[in-house]
Amino acid sequence: VQWVYCFGGTRNEGRAEMRNLLGGKGANLAEMASIGLPVPAGFTITTEVCTAYYKNACAYPDDLKAQVENALRHIEQAIGMGFGDKKNPLLVSVRSGARVSMPGMMDTVLNLGLNDETVEGLANSSGDPRFAWDSYRRFIQMYGSVVMGVPHHRFEDILEEAKHALRVQDDTEITAEQLRVLVKDYRALVLGETGKEFPTDPHVQLWGAIGAVFGSWMNPRASTYRKLHDIPAEWGTAVSVQAMVFGNMGDDCATGVCFTRDPSTGENVFYGEYLVNAQGEDVVAGIRTPQPMAIARAEDGQKPMETVLPEAYAELSRIRSLLEGHYRDMQDIEFTVQKNVLYILQTRSGKRTAAAALKVAIDMAHEGLITQEEAILRVPPSSLNQLLHPALDPKAERTQLARGLPASPGAAAGAIVFTAEDVETHAARDEDVILVRIETSPEDVHGMHAAKGVLTTRGGMTSHAAVVARGMGRVCVAGAGGIQVDYKAKTVTAGGHVLKEGDWITLDGGTGSVYLGRVATIPPVLSGDFATLMGWADDARRLRVRANAETIADAETALSFGAEGIGLARTEHMFFAPERIGHVRQMIMTENPALRARAIEALQQFQRDDFIGLFRTMAGLPVTIRLLDPPLHEFLPHGENELADVAAALGENIEVLRARRDALSESNPMLGHRGCRLGITAPEIYAMQVRAIAQAAIRAAEIVGKPIVPEIMIPLVATEEELKRTRAAAEETIKAVIAEEGVELKYDIGTMIELPRAALTAEHIAHEADFFSFGTNDLTQTTLGLSRDDAASFLPLYVEKGILPRDPFVSIDQEGVGALVRMGVTKGRTTRPGMKMGICGEHGGDPDSIAFFESIGLDYVSCSPFRVPVARLAAAQAAL
Ligand code: PEP
Ligand code: MG
Repeated sequence: VQWVYCFGGTRNEGRAEMRNLLGGKGANLAEMASIGLPVPAGFTITTEVCTAYYKNACAYPDDLKAQVENALRHIEQAIGMGFGDKKNPLLVSVRSGARVSMPGMMDTVLNLGLNDETVEGLANSSGDPRFAWDSYRRFIQMYGSVVMGVPHHRFEDILEEAKHALRVQDDTEITAEQLRVLVKDYRALVLGETGKEFPTDPHVQLWGAIGAVFGSWMNPRASTYRKLHDIPAEWGTAVSVQAMVFGNMGDDCATGVCFTRDPSTGENVFYGEYLVNAQGEDVVAGIRTPQPMAIARAEDGQKPMETVLPEAYAELSRIRSLLEGHYRDMQDIEFTVQKNVLYILQTRSGKRTAAAALKVAIDMAHEGLITQEEAILRVPPSSLNQLLHPALDPKAERTQLARGLPASPGAAAGAIVFTAEDVETHAARDEDVILVRIETSPEDVHGMHAAKGVLTTRGGMTSHAAVVARGMGRVCVAGAGGIQVDYKAKTVTAGGHVLKEGDWITLDGGTGSVYLGRVATIPPVLSGDFATLMGWADDARRLRVRANAETIADAETALSFGAEGIGLARTEHMFFAPERIGHVRQMIMTENPALRARAIEALQQFQRDDFIGLFRTMAGLPVTIRLLDPPLHEFLPHGENELADVAAALGENIEVLRARRDALSESNPMLGHRGCRLGITAPEIYAMQVRAIAQAAIRAAEIVGKPIVPEIMIPLVATEEELKRTRAAAEETIKAVIAEEGVELKYDIGTMIELPRAALTAEHIAHEADFFSFGTNDLTQTTLGLSRDDAASFLPLYVEKGILPRDPFVSIDQEGVGALVRMGVTKGRTTRPGMKMGICGEHGGDPDSIAFFESIGLDYVSCSPFRVPVARLAAAQAAL
């Protein structure tokens, strides 16, 4: 039986597929060697030996010893060193490796082969006695604890005492001579603890280490891990023994890390750093400055590897294309050059920036290395956010002031202001300002638009501020509870700092960080690769992607990002413009029918123009307009002045109006007088909106020369009866408009499914609805009984503690809320096969949620304009 498989050098007996026999590590080393990579030579003892060992009361198969000796000779030949050789000692590492990785569960021994004689050989060949003795000291510690069972901390205690006596802080300050003494103390410790001498014969050391690795397969830690992960004990572990190579044995040695392409830009150039005569740790430790790889990338005075070690560099360049051809991805390689011979220690997929991920994917597809589909799957959709928005300059200094939720991506700096009016005043003077509020309301929308960014101290990921800022592409940090805002004193207090109006802060909406002062930002750059990827994604996806937008500007942005329609136009946002809000207040505050009719007539003009604008911009693409949704509460006049204005406009008594305002106030408006409930109690409001929509559709169709089929959406429906009545009223209004105008008009009337009862009874509701649009913001809020506006105070803790896997307002709770959505789809389509279904909650822009919506057969997702590209890519990935 072959118990031992060699790799590297001239013998390569394993293959990647032999994972079960050679373990993950052994198979990977064999794979690297088999494609021609110069991995340091070694051998793997199979998992079958482990199984046999435990079957035979911890005895090895008879012929194992001979096979191991033979394989050792293979290493010696390949590397040109001798195991136990006093002049030129070969050192090896001994590692475990099961079929599946069991990180940290089993044992590893490095630098095996050192003793009092070989350590002198290593000191000579490396020219660095300190390094040799330190390696020896570490070896005794590792072997002493792993193989001989001396508690690790006993070695640490001796080291600490020595440092104390020598009055040094750092291990590196201990000299070679002092390390010699430590080695003696370590060996005395081993003898004292175990009654046995530390073995000096490298062969004895090797068998000790092999036995320890097999032994560790049954240690309690590993057994527990196997139980938890359903790994059968019969699988066993393999043992890989590999030559150690050193980059610090003179000026013909080096060590380094490189990438097959530039990991920050994706450019197809060889990228990396190396150090002559150094150990791997030196590159990371930053004591010496690493040098570039290629001449082309070297600056004056630098010593590129290409000139310093030309042979090794040429070999590495050959390997670069070999690796990409084999792994079909950008690789991150660790290498060592020992006496002019190159060794590859590790290769894996390289981490990269968003820009590099995009460029590498597109380039590799063009080079024929990967397919178009693979290229689509290689770019994480959320990484597009980094490409679409300004980011903080990574080199810029910064001091964090506080942290909130990453509500809308991008980075922005500006002076603090506290009201929407102040934002507009400053913005008119071209000054950059950040609007800081405890929370925002629809009244703040115009100020949010003019600000560079928005910061709130209360509210979650679907709070008003978060949803609106995302829609506009404005940077937003929401729910930064560590900040106190004092509107009266006009101050912001956090972490011992008190900032005044006009002081600068910087927001990073991608991380939720708030920084003091002005931190430099860098603008986004969109390459042609972006458009290419989007085109490929569009070919691959099934889900349509619409945008949530209600202004012409937002609709234009949405179109430029590839939106295929509007899935949600929130009409309430149209009510807050200064010239309109007075009419809205008069409409809801008066009980005089004539005055109410006058206010409604004024609003109808505005609304009709709004809708003509939207329909024209979208030029025949579907547009879903939602009738008024928020509680009237939100439109009530605040304070005496506003109340007096309304009284004057209506010519009514202020006391009467005050009483009316009190009557309209609610203690829980989110579950109060809103949505279709308004449509039922005050039908003239919906009638006004429907009339405006119908007239606008007819007018816009003439202008764009295409038929326009408006989609009218009724919010917050809980019962079939509610929808039946609001629908009937809307149809009556539309019929009247058709009669007045004397033209035909096709339309759809549908509903939001955003209350659990609506999902649970969707087969009934579908009788009255031409389409469903799932409002997963409210559906999450009502299913979990979790306020979208207040959850920020405890939700992050829930996620941190693992009570919830993610913020359910960001990524849909598939098990709970998702089950309701699925039920809504299935039940709705039993009544109306093929019924059009979409989702317009914030989850429409979340890649994981999009994968879920694909799986349950929705027709489209609708998200804020800036997330349209993210959604297009995520939808493509979900379809592949
Ligand atoms: C929803 O509830 O998911 C929705 C889209 O509506 P809004 O966020 O306006 O409540
Ligand atoms: Mg809603």
